[in-house]
Amino acid sequence: MKQADITITLAEEEFIAEHPIWKTCNKCGRSFPQTKQYFYFRKDKNLFVHPCKECRGQTFKILPREGYKFCSTCKSELPKTEEYFRLVHPKDHKNGYLCSVCRSCRKEYAKKYSEENADRLKMLGKIYVREHRKEISAKQKERYHKNPEAFRERMRKWAKKNPGKNHEYYENNKQYYKDYWAARKEEKSAYQKEYFKNRPNYHRNWYAANKERMKSKNKERYESKKEYYKEYYKKYYQTRKENKENSCI
Ligand SMILES: [Zn+2]
Ligand SMILES: [Zn+2]
Repeated sequence: MKQADITITLAEEEFIAEHPIWKTCNKCGRSFPQTKQYFYFRKDKNLFVHPCKECRGQTFKILPREGYKFCSTCKSELPKTEEYFRLVHPKDHKNGYLCSVCRSCRKEYAKKYSEENADRLKMLGKIYVREHRKEISAKQKERYHKNPEAFRERMRKWAKKNPGKNHEYYENNKQYYKDYWAARKEEKSAYQKEYFKNRPNYHRNWYAANKERMKSKNKERYESKKEYYKEYYKKYYQTRKENKENSCI
């Protein structure tokens, strides 16, 4: 094939320049692009010679391929995108730049850090919640009012995943709740009065709407504590009978 038979577009030429031939050094075994950055070029023979520049006493900075980036921790060459590197946004930097550590290394580091400092982080979290209680509850309220049903659904899911946890929490903080509502007794009753005033037949409607659910729930409860209820009713009817007999005398 004669040279003249080949026509290369500019884009193809650029592509070839960006994807150089790779050459393995016969001394250290590492592969580098066959360019003057890594190998000496012998003009008289018109070729790149072995071994690499570093093995000949020179130092060079290994550059990543076009569109790639080295992670400074694991040293692997990854695509220079936000999928592999987190975008960092310092204050004095307008557009931000990609982090020098890849995402999986960051993840690894965060995991290790949180494991090694678990107790301290737990304590810091507690302090944060205590110091920002008002902000946190305001934010939660806002989120709740945006979509109450989704919130309830999440709570239900959590309760299903952690059976008995809600009850346990209540048992552990019983006194707190008692004190809380005791201090807000009048507030609560006023609120309830107002609430039900605006919603006549609230309870009747609720029972009508939740009839089937209540039925199945009661049944479930009875089935789970069958022996207990049997004993309970037995005792109940016994005492009632005795009271009746006594009253007859
Ligand atoms: Zn070498
Ligand atoms: Zn990495």
